[in-house]
Amino acid sequence: MKYYSTRDQKKNSFDSAVVIKKGLAADGGLFVPESLPTLTKEDVEKLCGMTYPERAATVLSKFLTDYTYDELLADCKEAYCESSFPGGAAPLAKVTDTIYSLELWHGPTAAFKDMALQIMPRLLSRALVKTGENNTALILVATSGDTGKAALEGYKDVDGVKIMVFYPVDGVSKVQKLQMATQTGTNVNVCAIKGNFDDAQNGVKKIFSDEEAKAELLKNGYILSSANSINWGRLAPQIVYYVSAYCDMIARGDINYGEKVNVCVPTGNFGNIFAAYLAKCMGLPLGKLICASNDNNVLTDFLATGTYNKNRDFHTTISPSMDILISSNLERLLFFAAGAEKTAAYMKQLNENGAYTVSDDVKAVIDENFVGFYANEDSTRATLEHFYRDYGYLADTHTSVALNCAEQYLALSGDNSKMIVASTASPYKFASDVYEAIAHKTASADTGALDDLSALTTTEISYPLRGLASRKVNFDTVIEKDEMLTEVYKFM
Ligand SMILES: *Cc1c(COP(=O)(O)O)cnc(C)c1O
Repeated sequence: MKYYSTRDQKKNSFDSAVVIKKGLAADGGLFVPESLPTLTKEDVEKLCGMTYPERAATVLSKFLTDYTYDELLADCKEAYCESSFPGGAAPLAKVTDTIYSLELWHGPTAAFKDMALQIMPRLLSRALVKTGENNTALILVATSGDTGKAALEGYKDVDGVKIMVFYPVDGVSKVQKLQMATQTGTNVNVCAIKGNFDDAQNGVKKIFSDEEAKAELLKNGYILSSANSINWGRLAPQIVYYVSAYCDMIARGDINYGEKVNVCVPTGNFGNIFAAYLAKCMGLPLGKLICASNDNNVLTDFLATGTYNKNRDFHTTISPSMDILISSNLERLLFFAAGAEKTAAYMKQLNENGAYTVSDDVKAVIDENFVGFYANEDSTRATLEHFYRDYGYLADTHTSVALNCAEQYLALSGDNSKMIVASTASPYKFASDVYEAIAHKTASADTGALDDLSALTTTEISYPLRGLASRKVNFDTVIEKDEMLTEVYKFM
């Protein structure tokens, strides 16, 4: 299986190991597989009898053909082991007769980013060997919270790799800051910058395009690499859990093979929901893909009208991981629907005017597969409380956005097919807002909210967040935003 860029009409192709090492294509496009492998009824029946790591290795082996099945199985067994994901990697909780919650947050940082970031570092480590790379890969990450911690946990103590994370000093939650500041590992570094997330992101992008800096790093034995969600190494592992959830529903006797199941995903960068689309294209019997947004509803509008327009107000919400105006992975959908030439043109328009309108052929693909809804802040809180009171299901704020959109779809469409809702974070990761939505009062300050929520709901705090406040702080550096490169050199 070869890969090429979403913007490259000549289709220069690369192996998956190269693609995982590079992250982004040289023309600014995203890497996509040349074709999609199929998932037949027989495949699904076999997968039903497998463990999660076996399912993951089987699905990944269809895409990463320059890795052996044994390599992938060894990596998946380590990535999704019991000590990292106690009770299983992607359990499916039945919430109502129709709605199932696919809980993707039982990993080491309590957010769904772990599903990809536990396996991707192992794939990168092998990619360095496969491509004959002698230098150390230096991963630079700008984070608004969840990605940074998940990347640190994934890359800590991985051979041939070092990782440095930058976060806005006042732009992440107390829990998120503590999670990162107390990180352990011999190859990690964490640094707060005086600025917002965009400053952190721009600083990292600047280093990636700074030829002088790259030459200096190379002289010292380092190449740059990235861990963000446009890397194919993050997307491919996300296909697995949709396949796995479908198998679990068959195994429980809740569906027969072939029955269409809808999927609803709380969406930011369009990575998670795009993975569901790929599973559907491979042949998994999925129905509608419901794209759930918060007040930053650029995707809701796009899916309804075919016009993407990021020129709008940015809203800070209680589902911060979905506060995004440019959904990078959408580019991959455009490519699959319209090809490289049109995709490159749309991305140019987005860059220049902040907007583009897709042609009818793209709109037809969207209408056949996707539908968008959004939930505002009050509706998100109300849904969180409603699912807790009426169904005894405790969801985090991001999952509540999706549950709200799922109910909007059910009411509007009359389509009562079973629905998988992607649950992307532990309620404890956003404990203050979850507590407030249920208790209608403010939780104790800082990490006290976790105890408040636990006492109120008699549920257990997710294991990675227990005792967070008493852990040793290893990183407290705060720098000016123009000191990022200096800090990278120091780390090197
Ligand atoms: C990253 C994230 C999302 C958005 O996922 P995308 O793949 O970027 O669409 C949703 N919820 C949580 C909790 C996240 O961390």
